[in-house]
Amino acid sequence: MSVTLIHNPASIDFDLPGAHHYQLAFPLDGTWGYSIVPLTVINGLRSGQPPGVAVFGGTHGNEYEGQIAVKRLCGDLDAAAMSGRVILMPQLSESACRAGQRISPEDGVNMNRAFPGSPRGALSYRIAHFVKTLVFPQVKIVVDLHAGGHEANFPLCTSLHPVADPSQYAEMIAAASLFDPPFVYVYSRQMASGLLTDEAEDEGKIAIGGEFGFGGGASPRGILHAYEGVRNLLKKYGLLEGAITPIDPARGSPPRIIAAPDLRDYVPCPRDCIWEPVLQPGEDVRAGDLIGRLHDFDDHTSPAVEIRAHKDGVIAALYFGAVCRKGLTLFVVAEDITDRI
Ligand SMILES: [Zn+2]
Repeated sequence: MSVTLIHNPASIDFDLPGAHHYQLAFPLDGTWGYSIVPLTVINGLRSGQPPGVAVFGGTHGNEYEGQIAVKRLCGDLDAAAMSGRVILMPQLSESACRAGQRISPEDGVNMNRAFPGSPRGALSYRIAHFVKTLVFPQVKIVVDLHAGGHEANFPLCTSLHPVADPSQYAEMIAAASLFDPPFVYVYSRQMASGLLTDEAEDEGKIAIGGEFGFGGGASPRGILHAYEGVRNLLKKYGLLEGAITPIDPARGSPPRIIAAPDLRDYVPCPRDCIWEPVLQPGEDVRAGDLIGRLHDFDDHTSPAVEIRAHKDGVIAALYFGAVCRKGLTLFVVAEDITDRI
């Protein structure tokens, strides 16, 4: 496939029929050169005007399932069999991806805190500004594929924020369910700001994310759900033909919808320690159940500090590493709201 190097992202013709592959050259801040960010635009050759879809991987550089799934889609989606427009960016924070790090080593910025971006900001802010001003206007559906990295261990899930508009919220839940994960996780918007999906949902778009692995690995199951989930989404909105397919037929049940919209359910580590979780993410807990233990090796005879669930629910995230610092989020308990949707 031929790839066109673009120095002026504003010059891309997003209406060009067929599949077009680009490398966007964003000037670096600290040296004479570029972060070369991959982008594919596919305009289907079949008739029809379905809503546009944008899919991002590599917003965090050490989360690989999304990068791999989106890269595969760049090569696999056939414009001749499609209607409408898909925009694919497999390594949004390209400098972070090449470094295998969560945040960009070029500017020290977390791409998922850089939105809405700035045309004159550091590298990550300029890439975010490109997405906000040139990609978002092309699409109605925005998908940002993540994994836990070294932050947290999540159950395989797609995710969204609670939004005030009931029809937008219902459509986001439905879109997230097309990835057929065991869980659809409605998570707090209070933890941080500047997320890619914050910006998209504030524009009224159907904005979803997901956690498809953890620990800097490349989970085959996570990649399958990310890849086939996007294809299901394209079918649902009429860009691809064909029936929506179950991705995990062995499970035999729809995703459970779990919600932790309040930061009180994001429990910080009370001290520097070695963290010993005793549960798996996705397990049900009752208030008072043991979730894990904190160890202090300054005195190996000291008793472990037991960490217990503060409420009934589902473990929506567990801190990933053994070495934990005071203040990092140790676990999240979410409520099962499947029956309330
Ligand atoms: Zn992430």
